[in-house]
Amino acid sequence: MSLTTREVQALDSAHYMHPFTDHQSLAGKGARVITRGKGVYVWDSEDNEIFDGMSGLWCVNVGYGRQELVEAAARQMEVLPYYNSFFQTTNLPAAQLAERIVGLAGARFSHVFFSSSGSESNDTNVRLVRHYWATLGQPERNVIISRKNAYHGSTVCGAALGGMSGMHAQGGPMVPGIEHIQQPYHFELAPDMDRDAFGIEAAGWLEQKILAVGPEKVAAFIGEPVQGAGGVIIPPKTYWPEIQRICDKYGILLICDEVICGFGRLGAWFSAEMMGAKPDLITFAKGVTSGYIPLGGVVVGKRVADVVIGQGGEFNHGYTYSGHPVACAVALANLDIIEREGLVDRVREETGPYLAEQFAALSEHPLVAGAETFGMVGGLVLMKDKASRTPFDSSLEVGMICRDHCFANGLVMRAVGDRMIIAPPLVCTKSDIDELIKRVRICLDATLKDIQSRGWMDAGHSAG
Ligand SMILES: *Cc1c(COP(=O)(O)O)cnc(C)c1O
Repeated sequence: MSLTTREVQALDSAHYMHPFTDHQSLAGKGARVITRGKGVYVWDSEDNEIFDGMSGLWCVNVGYGRQELVEAAARQMEVLPYYNSFFQTTNLPAAQLAERIVGLAGARFSHVFFSSSGSESNDTNVRLVRHYWATLGQPERNVIISRKNAYHGSTVCGAALGGMSGMHAQGGPMVPGIEHIQQPYHFELAPDMDRDAFGIEAAGWLEQKILAVGPEKVAAFIGEPVQGAGGVIIPPKTYWPEIQRICDKYGILLICDEVICGFGRLGAWFSAEMMGAKPDLITFAKGVTSGYIPLGGVVVGKRVADVVIGQGGEFNHGYTYSGHPVACAVALANLDIIEREGLVDRVREETGPYLAEQFAALSEHPLVAGAETFGMVGGLVLMKDKASRTPFDSSLEVGMICRDHCFANGLVMRAVGDRMIIAPPLVCTKSDIDELIKRVRICLDATLKDIQSRGWMDAGHSAG
């Protein structure tokens, strides 16, 4: 039985409560129904072809329609669809995947704890680092320092760890023992300062916070190597080495949340080391299965494993789906594809640099002030007058207007305020990138025309 678009929309609006959605504003329009995907494209129920410039939600790294992943899931479901790992049991895909991920993370790591999402994995991190310090006889070391505008998920701990003001405003009180410092957003906070000097200054905010809290109370610092949901905020190259130096100085644990950055997106299997940090714990999810099935986890460094596993006794923590055999089998097949197609090296050496060049050229557009990428993530800022750095009034929601023009012109590009962001699939070829950039230009031109006709911008600027 097939339903018309309107019928699906009616079911949807009557019963499906969406994540991160204003249902009043959705009700008038009806949700766009996505029906299928192939390569870097998805199609909606009206058969519009859309270039998925966001890889779903930063996850469909190997693109849509990969038969190998379908077969891996089907094979595992036939043999063993589910079993838990609670009571001294295990399963082959989970054990193999743990070994494989530890191998990719490098010699400082020894174990993997599995969950089904990034949020759950960060909840695990909170419990794990506090348990680590308690095991070492320092239970008062329980404060975790994070950053404003960070995204670490949407569970109670995930939201509290994250620095999204809109999330902190709802569903509180937040989890105690979590502190936030300012993000390393050069363009907004200190555009006139030397970028590298700003990186050192921004990392210094961590030291100030540690001293304010009391070093003997700080358990860990958590950060995304490049902030994703916050708007693709790329820190200066001096930032992470300085963060690492400060963590070492006070002996605090470093958690790198690589839910977006991991599995090739920035041109490395895990990106923190490439950026000069040596995390004790790495959060992963999204790209580990290319989103084909939910899976997440924490890669546990030896420093933590030796204490928690070696001395901590039973860690009273776990999920029904920790080490789910089907999810792990799909992840193994996904890693096979990434390896065989050389996607990590390709992003670092070929497609990443090509995207960087093409994307930076967008800053010639009258609306665009600053456009930068790292691997396969990128962000640009829409501004009313870029010469004088005058932003649009945020109540105009120019980013959302641009996003709507993107959808209407066959492109998924996400808006974070007036930052437009992309995270295309890692399988993008150079000609896919050309197509992506072509669509971005069309959408920027449409946005420019629109806001000029509303009288929000000087009509003297013309589209390229
Ligand atoms: C998406 C994301 C999460 C949350 O992952 P879920 O699977 O949605 O729970 C956590 N951290 C980062 C950096 C993310 O991008």
